[in-house]
Amino acid sequence: TYVIAQPCVDLKDLACVEECPVDCIYEGERMLYIHPDECVDCGACEPVCPVEAIFYEDDVPGEWKDYTQANAEFFDDL
Ligand code: SF4
Repeated sequence: TYVIAQPCVDLKDLACVEECPVDCIYEGERMLYIHPDECVDCGACEPVCPVEAIFYEDDVPGEWKDYTQANAEFFDDL
């Protein structure tokens, strides 16, 4: 799955939402989140993010590793 990290917080550019072929990017209070079970790993969202907030799960930078969990947990609360 792909993961949205810290650069999205308080930005929510939404360019990725337009690109996602399966509409699995959802808007939260302060950032966008990718549904880990719905993402088909196409990678279309990653290059369109103006702040490079989106990473493949194995490539999330160390300081943002917690965002993998945060993306998943967002959907637990829905
Ligand atoms: Fe959507 Fe593809 Fe990005 Fe997954 S990798 S969130 S399916 S655009």
